[in-house]
Amino acid sequence: MNYYFHIPFCASKCGYCAFYSIPEADRFLIDSYLDQLERTLHSCGTAETVYIGGGTPTYLSAVQLKRLFAIIRSGIDITPETEISCEANPESITPEKCGILRENITRISMGVQSFDAAVRKNIGRHCSGKVLEDAITLIRSAGFPHWNMDLIFALPGQSDESFFAGAEMAVEYGVDHISCYALTAEENAALKLPEDDEHAAEMMPEICDFMNARGFRRYEISNFARPGCECRHNCNVWKGGRLAGFGPAACGFDGTDRWSNGTLDEWLTGRTPMQDAIPHMARLQEIFAVNLRTADGWTPDMWAEVPNADSWARRLEIIREIAANFPAEWFDISAEHIALTGNGMMFWNSVAGEIFDHGA
Ligand code: SF4
Repeated sequence: MNYYFHIPFCASKCGYCAFYSIPEADRFLIDSYLDQLERTLHSCGTAETVYIGGGTPTYLSAVQLKRLFAIIRSGIDITPETEISCEANPESITPEKCGILRENITRISMGVQSFDAAVRKNIGRHCSGKVLEDAITLIRSAGFPHWNMDLIFALPGQSDESFFAGAEMAVEYGVDHISCYALTAEENAALKLPEDDEHAAEMMPEICDFMNARGFRRYEISNFARPGCECRHNCNVWKGGRLAGFGPAACGFDGTDRWSNGTLDEWLTGRTPMQDAIPHMARLQEIFAVNLRTADGWTPDMWAEVPNADSWARRLEIIREIAANFPAEWFDISAEHIALTGNGMMFWNSVAGEIFDHGA
C-alpha cells in the first residue's frame, strides 16, 4: 500500500499555487490536525511508500514534526524497504527539523523553483539567496539517501539561461532527481499565465538533452532521475497502485474507486470522503492514460497488475485505434510494450483525451 499525507499549512500563499493550502495557520490549528491524524491513523498495513506533501510539511515546528512521524510510525508498518518522501521548503527548514527528517525519511524533496531571487519573488516565493544557500548546505550535509529539487521553467521574467544555470547548480549540489515544471494557467491561482505557452513546449527537448548529458533520464513528463532514483511512490500511483490518503484534500484509491477528503474543517470533523465512482472501463482508461506519462509506459506484466485489468490484447487494440488519429512518431507500440515517445509525451493531453473518450 502507498500512503499520502497532506500537510495543508504554508507560511504564505504563492502566486502560482492551486494546491489546497492554508497560509499562516497557528500552532493550535496544526495541533488539531495532528490530533485528528492520530485518531484516524491506526492499524494500517505495511507501507511500500509514504509521501508527505503539502502545503509545507516543514512549516510544522520541530516538536510537531517529531509528533507527525511518531503518529505515522505507530499507525502504519514501515519496513527497511519503505520509501518515505517528504517535501521541504528552504524558508522553513532548520537544523533541528532537518535532523528529524533525516532520522525518519529516505527521500527529501525541496521546492526551490528557481535559483534566481527575482524570479522567486515574481511568483511569491519570499526566500533570499542566503536562506536558500543555508538550506541547501543543511540538506547536503545531512546526506539523505535521495534528494529531489523542484525547478520551474518558462516563468514570466525568467530567461532560458537562468533556468539552465539553476539546473546546473542543482546537479552540482548532488541531487539525484529533478522535477521540472512549466506552470499552467490555473483558474484559482493569483499569478495569471498565458493559456497556451508554446515556449515551455519548445524548451523541453533542450531540457531533456541537458539532463541526459548529466546522467538524468526523463522517466515521466516532468521528472528526471539518475538510474534507480525515481520516486517509487509516484511511479506506483501512476500505475494505478492502491493509495491511502490522509489529511484535507488528500486522495485515495482502493483499486476500484477514487475518493478525496474535503477541506480542513470537513476533515477535522470526520466527514466521509467524497467518492469518485466511475464505470470500470473509464477507470481502466484513466489508469492506462496516466501511466503513459512515463517513459516506460506499459508492458503486459505491468498491465496485469492493475486491479481488474482487461486483456493486453484489448489494450493493444485500443492504443492502435487511437494512434491512427495522430502522427506515428508519437507512439512506441509493439506486442510487448506500449509507450509514448519523447515527442508523443509533449502531446500527452491530446492522447489522454482520446483514451478517456474511448472509455466513455
Ligand atoms: S506552492 Fe507550495 S509553498 Fe507555495 S502556497 Fe502552494 S503549497 Fe504552499
